[in-house]
Amino acid sequence: MAGKVYIVGAGPGAADLLTLRAAALLRSATIVLHDDLVPAEILELCPASAQIVNVGKRCGRHGRSQEQINALMVWHAREPQAQTIVRLKSGDPAVFGRLGEELDALRRAGIEFEIVPGVTAAAAAAASARLTLTDRRAASALVVLTAHNCRNESLSRTMFEPARSTYAIYMPGPDYAATAKGLLESGQELATPCAVVSNVGRANEEVRYLTLSELASAKGIPAPAVLIVGDVARRDPDKASREVLDIFGGHAPFAQCNEPDAPGISSLLQT
Ligand code: SAH
Repeated sequence: MAGKVYIVGAGPGAADLLTLRAAALLRSATIVLHDDLVPAEILELCPASAQIVNVGKRCGRHGRSQEQINALMVWHAREPQAQTIVRLKSGDPAVFGRLGEELDALRRAGIEFEIVPGVTAAAAAAASARLTLTDRRAASALVVLTAHNCRNESLSRTMFEPARSTYAIYMPGPDYAATAKGLLESGQELATPCAVVSNVGRANEEVRYLTLSELASAKGIPAPAVLIVGDVARRDPDKASREVLDIFGGHAPFAQCNEPDAPGISSLLQT
């Protein structure tokens, strides 16, 4: 019986900004693999019997490679006695957290996983600064980006290359044709992948994977919804769990981000 991996957001640092779901999972974890930025106060929620491993790799300190972290998750999930593995990442685990590579490894190994979102640093920073990131009088877009990317691309390239950007669009409907038109006019292509996620976290949650041209004629998308536009929204990764590696592995946006493989690690990832 394989274990399950919970990929959990620890929030920006304060223990009381942890979600209740994250806290409950930490209390029942048998293995916790955490990053450097996760404070001790949060790790104290784990049972004394849990195995807690810092897999962080902050600058200047020797840490584990991404491949080794991927392999550790798979290794623990395959232990004979089913484990509850919490992969604990700061903020929201899907924001600049190298989550893509970890999900690829879990999908490739056929390991069950669940993602538990967390409060991302930008949201917490805005709250501390007592401002709103999308004050409608000043801004109608929020582009989240990093000054350090795995391709060493300049900020200007990252910011102004539509094909290298992800857009998370709030309030995208009900006129999806108009939204699609606006995206096409801003440089996106008809084949650009999109995911529309309605009623996130509710019983009637619905996810649709479309291209921008399909979005233009889509009907009956329930509100509220968030529209995610860009290569990251390419098809349903779970339905295409093996294909996804071919797509992403051979696809320029992801192919160059792999770190060198540690000896003996890749064999752990093979099914
Ligand atoms: N997944 C995290 C981001 C990880 S990348 C999230 O959603 O927040 C690490 C970067 O996040 C840091 O270099 C810093 O820019 C930012 N960050 C993370 N925690 C932070 C904090 N408590 N305060 C300010 N910035 C933070």
